[in-house]
Amino acid sequence: MSSSARASPRMSSRNSSRKASTTSLATPNGSYRFAPNSSTDSAVQLWIYPDSDLQAEVMNSHVRCKYYKEGCRWVDKLHNLQAHLDVCRYDTVPCPNQCSDVLSRLSLDDHLEFSCLKRIVICEFCNQEFPGDAFDMHVGNCQYEVVWCENKCGAKLERRYLNNHMRNECHKRTIKCPYCSKEFVYETLQTHQYQCPRYPVPCPNRCDPTKIPREEMDIHVQELCPSATVSCQFKHAGCTHKSPRYSMDRHIDENTKSHLQLMCELVQKQQSQITQLCNALYSVTQVTDGTFIWKITDYKQKFIESIYKNTEIVSEPFYSTRFGYKMAASVFLNGNGSGEGKYLSVYIKILQGEYDNILEWPFLLPISFTVFDQNSDSEKRANITESFVPDPTWKHFQKPVKDVDQLGFGYPKFVSNEVMKTRDYIKGDSIILRVKMMIF
Ligand SMILES: [Zn+2]
Ligand SMILES: [Zn+2]
Ligand SMILES: [Zn+2]
Ligand SMILES: [Zn+2]
Ligand SMILES: [Zn+2]
Ligand SMILES: [Zn+2]
Ligand SMILES: [Zn+2]
Repeated sequence: MSSSARASPRMSSRNSSRKASTTSLATPNGSYRFAPNSSTDSAVQLWIYPDSDLQAEVMNSHVRCKYYKEGCRWVDKLHNLQAHLDVCRYDTVPCPNQCSDVLSRLSLDDHLEFSCLKRIVICEFCNQEFPGDAFDMHVGNCQYEVVWCENKCGAKLERRYLNNHMRNECHKRTIKCPYCSKEFVYETLQTHQYQCPRYPVPCPNRCDPTKIPREEMDIHVQELCPSATVSCQFKHAGCTHKSPRYSMDRHIDENTKSHLQLMCELVQKQQSQITQLCNALYSVTQVTDGTFIWKITDYKQKFIESIYKNTEIVSEPFYSTRFGYKMAASVFLNGNGSGEGKYLSVYIKILQGEYDNILEWPFLLPISFTVFDQNSDSEKRANITESFVPDPTWKHFQKPVKDVDQLGFGYPKFVSNEVMKTRDYIKGDSIILRVKMMIF
């Protein structure tokens, strides 16, 4: 305090026995002097005695409030300090509710009203009285407080009704579809159930009082429903009978004969379709690079047939090149013309083709026929080959005007029946022929 510095010289002038080291202390309660006492063991003994003059002077000195730093602007004589501190807004006082807090007067009102654990508060919602600490727990839990529904449905209601509302009444609550067990907001559940795959719906055929999950209805109607109208299983054979599924067995039992007849007709129809398809397949024209290899199977049977019927066997048609001449080979296994009964006859026929208009006529490509010796040792094979250059004057080599079935050009006496029986010309009941052209 500022007063102590001025007091010091006065002290030494009035009482010369005092040591220069003596200090003074001004307190709100009075002024005391301290002096060393040499009669004790300790280094310094203090003597304390009142000095009323000094005290008056000290008490009249101006001081600032000790809460200057906290913001108190009070400045006055020292003897007024205590009175000021009794009311200073920055001085600390214990909470009058004895809550154990010590606070400045400044914050006391706030403390008493809002934070003192021992304050008494009345809840505005339930009107109950609470000590402050219990009230803090009560805030946010008062069952009478009106709150918004947490599902944001827009409803406001006392907290005590909230649970029941959210569980049982709120139209925004989530709820499990009882059929498919997926979760939905309550207000969309009804819309969902118009589509829910597990929602039970009645069979459109009224087959049974029990309802069936929506997703199983198709299978039920198509495969299981006893009341569904079904077609006879011989429908594809031509039976047009339709009846409820439960009576179909009887129809099948009673119509075995007519069903069998329908099946026979179907088989015949399909057989002729197969033949047509085979023919169509046969007529698909091959493209060659000038070499056509022709394997004739079932030789023995076809040979016997040609003895009796003199059958001509014609190969599938082929093109000499991609855009070349269309032609076919033909054979008489037991010969024809001059070779009849003794030789294998081989011919080539020029057919009407797609590109005839851009080809050269007459046909002049040299042609060779070969029958292969099918010996597995290639060294020992003795293939038989004949070749010729077409004569431009022959009708066979002119541009074909229409697809007439005429005999081809070739060798009526190509290989004799005797020679054909030798070596491996016939192997695995097959012979293999080659028609080859010299392509320029
Ligand atoms: Zn103050
Ligand atoms: Zn308190
Ligand atoms: Zn309350
Ligand atoms: Zn709600
Ligand atoms: Zn569902
Ligand atoms: Zn049904
Ligand atoms: Zn039928």
